[in-house]
Amino acid sequence: MGGQCQLFVSPKIAWKLPEMTTTNSPEEVDRQPIDLGDFVREPWDWAAYRRRRSEIAGTWRADGLRYFSLGYFLKNLYGQRVQKVSIDAGLTCPNVDGTVAYGGCNFCDNRSFSPSRRMPRRDIFQQIEAGIRLLKLRYRVDKFIAYFQPATNTYAEIEDLQWMYAQALRHPQVCGMAIGTRPDCVPPEVMQVLEQVSKQVMLSVEYGMQTMHDRSLAWMNRGHDHAATVDAVQRSRDLSFEVCLHIMLSLPTETRADMLETAREVARLGVDAVKIHNLYIVKKTPLAMMWEQGDVRLMERDEYVETVVDFIERLPPEMIVERISGDAPSDYFLAPTWSLDKPGILLAIEQEFARRDSWQGKFFGK
Ligand code: SF4
Repeated sequence: MGGQCQLFVSPKIAWKLPEMTTTNSPEEVDRQPIDLGDFVREPWDWAAYRRRRSEIAGTWRADGLRYFSLGYFLKNLYGQRVQKVSIDAGLTCPNVDGTVAYGGCNFCDNRSFSPSRRMPRRDIFQQIEAGIRLLKLRYRVDKFIAYFQPATNTYAEIEDLQWMYAQALRHPQVCGMAIGTRPDCVPPEVMQVLEQVSKQVMLSVEYGMQTMHDRSLAWMNRGHDHAATVDAVQRSRDLSFEVCLHIMLSLPTETRADMLETAREVARLGVDAVKIHNLYIVKKTPLAMMWEQGDVRLMERDEYVETVVDFIERLPPEMIVERISGDAPSDYFLAPTWSLDKPGILLAIEQEFARRDSWQGKFFGK
């Protein structure tokens, strides 16, 4: 996941991006609040939300959970099931279009993120409608989180971002928004737009951190270093949205000790949520070629289960764990095959916690 924008980025790569300088001063952006048309949405009460969040964070263990899951949190927050509805805003990624690099991350199937995708798609509201219709066939659910998922969802002109997010905010069944992006794609003017969104709805901004180890970020052709993540998290800290970090385990450049160092770093950064998944191979990616040539070893299921439990044990108990395994549509997927059995992995992780008589936060700070 990444983002497009008038990049600010970490100073290390900012010099590569002169053409991306914004035309909007912060003052100009302030004068362009998100326009919801005739739709009226009650302002989102961040302070009341944080109080309720803190109460829920204090109950998951007593309710028999081993970790603070997103499903548990949302059900307690809204009193009902909430589903994410995915939106493809039609953006590209600076790691694909040559702004940071060409080709993208080695695991990312970014063939659809062509550099011509610089303008947001005009059918965001309709995408939400269609997604809700499909989800309602499977679940009894009335509330949805609009999830700007593929590519880099802060990588557009400021006015385009405001328009994109407003389409989601105008949907009456959208109770929250999640925006996936790269940590080097949130310049101050984008942060202001995110803050505008967060005045209207519960917002989670997801930064693709992946790992704290720069050698691994270089291996995956990530195009940013860990300092960019630290910078984005620090600049998000006093704003009224949640910060979620995406983490990848099973990188061939890392030992289990390296991965647990990343767990301690995520804990130190004090973010609100984390998404963890194993490295998996998607067809027609550079990683697929490396794997086919025998250059990449993937974790076995038991090894992953033990590592993810080690990881979660080191997180603070109030951090929401949004995801603990990864998969992709089977048409695109190559390996490891165990990764496709998501219920089996979740069960194995539960069993490993039970076997250890352990829980999230047991080794927080250790
Ligand atoms: S995974 Fe990498 S290449 Fe793909 S969208 Fe995200 S930052 Fe861009």
